[in-house]
Amino acid sequence: MSFKCPQCSDPSALEIVFSIQLPKNKCADDITLQVVECGACQFAALAVYEEKRRSISDTRDWKHVGYRIKTKDLLSIKGIILECPDRLNPDCRCLAHMHLGTCNPHGEWLGLEGVESYGSFAMRMRA
Ligand SMILES: [Zn+2]
Ligand SMILES: [Zn+2]
Repeated sequence: MSFKCPQCSDPSALEIVFSIQLPKNKCADDITLQVVECGACQFAALAVYEEKRRSISDTRDWKHVGYRIKTKDLLSIKGIILECPDRLNPDCRCLAHMHLGTCNPHGEWLGLEGVESYGSFAMRMRA
């Protein structure tokens, strides 16, 4: 899967380099936190893919948003993701999953709480 880079506008240079699937929460049935990097301009960011299934109509709502964050924060999140031994397992109970999958008492995901983002962009897949 390749995406359009918001920095250099290359239509397909942005790739997902690491991802971790997180436990579902009140807002999403599927939630994946990703580190994305552009092979053309070295731009790097965080991205979140969320999907909500609707049992009644059997359709899916999804959103895929990238967040520009500080390199320091990106590196620390990357480090946390890499600590997980089972990144595609949303039920994994390792420290990385505990840390990144935190929800508030209402069941809303708090994963990006405390991470300072200076802008978001839509993740556009190459057509
Ligand atoms: Zn780029
Ligand atoms: Zn884990």
